[in-house]
Amino acid sequence: MAKNEDQIPERTDVNELGEFGLIKHLTDRFPINKPSTIKGIGDDAAVVDYESRKVIFSTDMLVEGIHFDLMYTPLRHLGYKAVVVNLSDIIAMNARPEQITVSIAISNRFSVEALEELYDGIYKACAFYNVDLVGGDTTSSPKGLIISVTAIGSAAEEKITYRDTAKIGDIICITGNLGSAYLGLQILEREKQLFLSNPGIQPDLEEQNYLISRQLKPEARIDMFELFEKNDLVPSSMIDISDGLASELFHICSQSNVGAYIEESGIPIHPDAEQMAVTFKMDPVTCALSGGEDYELLFTIHPGDLEKVRFLPDIYIAGEIVEKSDGINLHTTGGNLHPIIAQGWNHFSKTDNK
Ligand code: ADP
Ligand code: MG
Repeated sequence: MAKNEDQIPERTDVNELGEFGLIKHLTDRFPINKPSTIKGIGDDAAVVDYESRKVIFSTDMLVEGIHFDLMYTPLRHLGYKAVVVNLSDIIAMNARPEQITVSIAISNRFSVEALEELYDGIYKACAFYNVDLVGGDTTSSPKGLIISVTAIGSAAEEKITYRDTAKIGDIICITGNLGSAYLGLQILEREKQLFLSNPGIQPDLEEQNYLISRQLKPEARIDMFELFEKNDLVPSSMIDISDGLASELFHICSQSNVGAYIEESGIPIHPDAEQMAVTFKMDPVTCALSGGEDYELLFTIHPGDLEKVRFLPDIYIAGEIVEKSDGINLHTTGGNLHPIIAQGWNHFSKTDNK
């Protein structure tokens, strides 16, 4: 279990620095690397210049108790993840992320040291994905932590990929593997319950490193964005898989006014996820369809582009876009056709259950 930030011996109260001092303290070491950043932190607003390229931006908010649990989420990982989930949205538009802003609301439970950890993670993500932190907002909250990140990116107009442009006959592709982040979460939840019922027990998480890291430290597929660019490939539609394959497939199909079929054997699942699903008495394919937070990409390509993707690493051909009237179906390895129902990863029902 991660140590609660209250247990960290060094504890500087946020009020000792004051709002401006705190912002300076947290953001001072962030460099500006992008030529497109004209003005970063320090003025009333940031300024960027993308010349003739289009501006793509997206915001996500993470709320303690709804989207993360600090009992097993180290603040460093949370900072990293908060950035990554936003970059993933920009990449899903086939755009290059360039800047972010970070806004936080914090209760007095959080010390300067705890916020340093959060910003350590944000720093690592900015460095890895080569984006500039150019602004944000800092305020207090009566309870818990809220973190909202806005990501800004750019793309040539003709390269932008939407959800509503899949065409009948297009080939459906998936990157990486699905269900791992969900199973990682199941492991962490299980260990949390064990810990709560017997705090003396130390969890043994070593063996499940891969699944847990998929939950705690997801990555956005910027490598795919670069691979597409290098191979001169523009997907006909694209979405990032944050809520499970089923839910994302529904978004593409309903917005594009088409149906789809997916080959069960075409859904990439990591061997560790296969095994852990069995341990939890779950179906691995269901975990891939309905488990959230993998941040892989679901995209379609024109059939004429098949040769471009066929031999690219970590891209799996999973099915085809069909007429709307054919619905959205899973073609099982047993040869049956099952309608896929859109049960994404619903944060609202999750809280209702608490
Ligand atoms: P304003 O009063 O104009 O909203 P602030 O005092 O909130 O300005 O912020 C001062 C500067 O610091 C601005 O450039 C703002 O974007 C930036 N900033 C504020 N909070 C954060 C934060 N949590 N992370 C990064 N930058 C921040
Ligand atoms: Mg402000």
